[in-house]
Amino acid sequence: MRIDLHTHSTVSDGLDAPADLIALAVAAGLDVVALTDHDAFDGLEQACAAASALGIGFLSGVEMSTERDGHSVHLLGYGCDPDEAELAAELRRIRDGREHRTPAMLARLAGLGMPLTEAEVAAFAEDASSIGRPHVADAMVARGYVRDRDEAFAKWLGDDRPAYVNRYATPLERAIALVRGASGVAVIAHPWSRRGRHELPERYLTELVADHGLDGVEADHPDHTPAERAALHSLAGRLGVLATGSSDYHGAGKKAGFSLGSCTTEPAVYERLVALIADRGGRRPGLLD
Ligand code: AMP
Ligand code: MN
Ligand code: MN
Ligand code: MN
Repeated sequence: MRIDLHTHSTVSDGLDAPADLIALAVAAGLDVVALTDHDAFDGLEQACAAASALGIGFLSGVEMSTERDGHSVHLLGYGCDPDEAELAAELRRIRDGREHRTPAMLARLAGLGMPLTEAEVAAFAEDASSIGRPHVADAMVARGYVRDRDEAFAKWLGDDRPAYVNRYATPLERAIALVRGASGVAVIAHPWSRRGRHELPERYLTELVADHGLDGVEADHPDHTPAERAALHSLAGRLGVLATGSSDYHGAGKKAGFSLGSCTTEPAVYERLVALIADRGGRRPGLLD
């Protein structure tokens, strides 16, 4: 069983439409795939229909933009009820913050000698409910300002780069409560990518489990070193929570390590995850209600 529980489609900053992503998951030899677009549920229906047509397991997900002490933290929600009002309203608030940020980033880029129109960015975010920096990066590539998304982030759009503009994100502890309030399971995505190990130390992850109902951590992720993966597995084991593994696939344009199935979740962990969703009355694999 090969299980990949973190992927993106054109509903956010991925390069494949939801149904195409499912076909690619089948071609990559996966048995189960979850779609986890940033701050939006809109691809789930299409992906789920494609998965049942192609005979691959499918789990509904979302990757929420959250923050702790001003640092960005991504939270995966599995099996959430997309119609639950509080979570839906909060995701709308995050997406509104994304919309408002785009013109501010374009003003920065213009000031840096790289003018772009909103229409140029919109052309790369045609199907996206969640517009983001990768779409701005795509428009920069098209203009010849940078070679690829990576260079756009490294030079201009990254968190400490000159065209960066902050946006609204949900406080992490509230986001966990919202996911659980929508009958879902809350797993921190790539907790130690970039500077994360300092921002989310083990003692804080421990507190999130004990006091706020965090259900798991994504241990195996292309951004984590083997030592970080081992430490997260061991922490999850001590805390009795899930340690998942996934590729965080965004499309073939991304770095090689992020290909579908490049990191996977153990079947026994997946079974526990599905049992938790069922306990909470959330959306079980392959189902739309
Ligand atoms: P945003 O959601 O608009 O804040 O943009 C963050 C997204 O940009 C992440 O979800 C990644 O998919 C992508 N990203 C972050 N860093 C890089 C990078 N160095 N190269 C390419 N994409 C990146
Ligand atoms: Mn992304
Ligand atoms: Mn992420
Ligand atoms: Mn992701």
